Amino acid sequence: MRERESEAASWRCMKMTPANTKNAMSRSKPDPRRQRARKIYAHLTGLYPDAHCALHYTNPLELLVATILSAQCTDERVNKVTPALFARYSDARAYANANLAELETIIQSTGFFRNKAKNIQACCRMIVEQHGGAVPKSMEELVPLPGVGRKTANVILGNAFGIPGIPVDTHVGRLSRRMGLTTHDDPVKVEADLMDLIPKDEWTMFGHRMIFHGRQVCQSRKPNCAACVLTKICPKVGLDAAV
Ligand code: SF4
Repeated sequence: MRERESEAASWRCMKMTPANTKNAMSRSKPDPRRQRARKIYAHLTGLYPDAHCALHYTNPLELLVATILSAQCTDERVNKVTPALFARYSDARAYANANLAELETIIQSTGFFRNKAKNIQACCRMIVEQHGGAVPKSMEELVPLPGVGRKTANVILGNAFGIPGIPVDTHVGRLSRRMGLTTHDDPVKVEADLMDLIPKDEWTMFGHRMIFHGRQVCQSRKPNCAACVLTKICPKVGLDAAV
């Protein structure tokens, strides 16, 4: 942003000649992708003013555990499992010392339960050993935790600590490509493109709104473009013209 501002400042001081006037005109053309991102964000804000994290939690550790459980599983299913889980294990030490077989049984219905139980326990052991039992508050400290990638870290930062982040899940990735906001499949590159297009203090809510829209309108197999508020501005990349 600072770079853009200083570029604009030096632009204002430049003596205009026919050559650099032509240059200036082409450089000052508005970036269509940035303009589209702004309009999309405005529409989604109007449509989903109260978008929020669908997982139930009361503290950062509960959100961390619920997010690990949500991999390859619906939030509804996770929300059915977590009340008993959170009642049984109240802090990171409890998970660190848990009987693994018992933990597996409680989370079994979320799928991939052996791997998830192993990750939750290893993650909580690291939280106890390296962070005094408290979930850390930075991307650099969250990502090394077992079972935690950038997506999960952004969920924790944005929702538990109010630190802006864009979690790129399957919905955010798919919609961003269809909307022409990115050309990438790699979630890290999608995240970087979105971070460049969306103002920082809107990152977390933008992620929530994209997920709401992906679930309700722009579904993976059946995007409802005819009924979508974005239909006039969305390039529908990768979709048939007939959708
Ligand atoms: S117009 Fe179609 S592709 Fe674009 S966001 Fe809406 S439903 Fe998705």
